[in-house]
Order: sequence, then C-alpha cells, then structure tokens
Amino acid sequence: FAPWNDPNAKPYIQFDKVTKKFGDFTAVNNLSLTIFEREFFALLGASGCGKSTLLRMLAGFEEPTAGRILLDGQDLRGIPPYRRPVNMMFQSYALFPHMTVENNIAFGLKQEGMPKPDIEKRVAEMLKLVKLEQFAKRKPHQLSGGQRQRVALARSVAKRPKVLLLDEPLGALDKKLREETQFELMDLQQELGLTFVVVTHDQEEAMTMADRIAIMDKGEVMQVATPAEVYEAPASRFVAHFVGNVNMFEGKVAERLANTTRITGATGAQIVVENSADTAAGSDIVFAIRPEKIKVSSKKPADAVNALEGEVYDVAYLGDMTVYHIRLDDGQIIRASALNAARVTDDPLTWNDRAWVSFRPDAGVVLAR
Ligand code: ATP
Repeated sequence: FAPWNDPNAKPYIQFDKVTKKFGDFTAVNNLSLTIFEREFFALLGASGCGKSTLLRMLAGFEEPTAGRILLDGQDLRGIPPYRRPVNMMFQSYALFPHMTVENNIAFGLKQEGMPKPDIEKRVAEMLKLVKLEQFAKRKPHQLSGGQRQRVALARSVAKRPKVLLLDEPLGALDKKLREETQFELMDLQQELGLTFVVVTHDQEEAMTMADRIAIMDKGEVMQVATPAEVYEAPASRFVAHFVGNVNMFEGKVAERLANTTRITGATGAQIVVENSADTAAGSDIVFAIRPEKIKVSSKKPADAVNALEGEVYDVAYLGDMTVYHIRLDDGQIIRASALNAARVTDDPLTWNDRAWVSFRPDAGVVLAR
C-alpha cells in the first residue's frame, strides 16, 4: 500500500495553498498536502504548529482564509460539518456521562433519523467491532479508560464516515494502554477501510500508526514521508531533531573526493561522509547520525574510516538496549545505542572509561546549515 508512489493514484483529500488567519496571526500558511484514500495519515508537530486547525478546517468547524480543501475532487467550502463525509473522534471524556454505552453509540444515528431496527443492528455491529458487547448497558464511569476510548471510537465510526479525524485520540491514556490502543486503531482502520487523519505531538505514536507523516512547524509542512523515510532521510535539521534522537556533527567541507567528502568539525575533528548535493567545497554542513548507527568500543577499531576518541559519560541500561553518552576529547557529547541482544559482552564499557565511537561515511545524512 503506497499510493503516494503511484503517479496515477487519485488524490483523495487535497489541501491546496490553504491559509488560516486568526486576526493578524497566521495559524496555517499557504499549505498544500495530499492524502490518499485508505491512508492512515498523521499530522505531527509541537503545540501551536497549526495541526488541529488543519483538522478542524477539514471537518468544517473552520473555513480557510485562503485556498481550497478538496475531498474526492469536491471543493468543501461552504459545506457544513454534518454534510461532509468526515467525522471527528473526540477524546473519551466527550462521551455523554448519563447515557449507556449503546445509547452513546446510537446518538448520532438517532439524530440522523435512522429507523430504529437499523440503529439496533448498527450499534450491535459497532459493539462487536470494538469488543464491548458485554458492556452495552454500562455508563461511561463504569468503564476503564481504554474501554471508554473504544466507545468514543465506536461512536465516531457508527455513521460510517469516509474519513475519520482523530485529534490526540490517545492523550488521556497511560503509556501501556496507549501503545495497545495504537495497534487496535490500526487494525480497526484496516477492517473498516477508512481514511484516518490523526493529529499528534507524539512522534512514536505517529511512527507506529501512520502510513505517512506530515511534520509541521509554524503553520507549514516541513516534510511528508513514511516513518522510515522521515527517520532515515530527514529533509532538514528540524525534522532530524523532531523525530527520534540524533547526533549532529557541524563542520565545513575541507575536501571533496570521488565518493566521499572530508569535513573539518568546528573543534578540529575530521570526519568523512558520503558525497551529496550539499557537500560542495567550502560549504557549511551538518552530518546527522542516529545513535544506533554509532559503534562504541574500548579500543580503536582497526578498519573504521571515522573513529573519534572520548570518555564514557553516562550509561543507561534500558532492557532492550543500552544507551551511552560519550564525551569526545573535543567536548562534543555523542549518544550511541546498542541492542542488548547484539551487545559485545567482552567489551563492557562503564563510566569514565576511555572509548571510541566509530561510524561509516554513509551512516547518516548531510544537511545544509
Ligand atoms: P496543540 O497541540 O496545542 O493543540 P496545534 O498544533 O493543534 O497545537 P492549533 O490548535 O492548530 O495548534 O493552533 C495553532 C495556532 O493558532 C495557535 O497559536 C493557536 O493559539 C492559534 N489559534 C487556534 N485557534 C484560534 C482561534 N480560534 N482564535 C485565535 N487563535 C487561534
């Protein structure tokens, strides 16, 4: 499933040069974005970057100041929220506290004037979908947080929208439950064959669930890509920092050879990286490299192109992996991580040990400064 790579795939949701201003303040700035049918799409960004505003415009709660939003080719301007094939799932505390689970789910269907037998059938279907058949007669306060969340979900898909919008859907849940629910949401989206657009500030949540992620900053999209692309090939320093941990070597191109470029760091350390469009002679660049691409060892690796010496500054054992902070002799602190399953047991490094960090020239990405 990768319609974004198919030049013939039909765009489903299109934001076309959309701007939203609140008075003088620009919340969304000339933003264009395409989402495909059945995609699980995440809008990721820090608080205030405009992601909720984008979602609310798609739902019809706000109109763009300029630009168009199209759904399946139709311009949505002027179409009220209830006539859009789009529904918004709110957090579980938006459930009606005095109503049973089944009445909460039935509420929108009743309002729509659906005949009673059809409502009963649909509610039963929804209860089964979210595995709450035995809880139909309970009220929200008699449910766990995760169960309440599933009622909210059932309620929001009961009307069979084509697009489900989720604004920080799992914000109220604790970490463990949130992770479980992420997988449930993915299964449900597959089962229903809907397009999901989720807003989150949690990068792990976006990475786990989404087919593609739009990373936003100050009302603009910084990069749209799959979780793997965003992580492995961030388009900018901002994206590299926002998603996952990263080390940044800042420097100047000293010499460009056939395949590699030699960089002189701000403090004099030399590294060698793969050539790229940004490694023209004299350019200021940063080499962004993820912690797991850096090897830590107690002796200088014989064959490493890049090997820098320093001292172990912190060690954190996290169960699945160990994270090291190494203070290089030039003062820069490097974060390196190693899966414990693959840990070299005869090389147990600890605080204050001398250590070498090494990495391949192609282990990171060169970004313009
Ligand atoms: P959060 O994660 O905190 O919800 P967000 O990325 O979803 O953040 P938005 O809710 O889209 O951000 O808000 C974007 C900016 O627009 C914020 O600075 C916010 O203060 C402003 N804003 C949103 N709605 C209004 C409004 N109705 N009137 C004035 N300013 C608004």
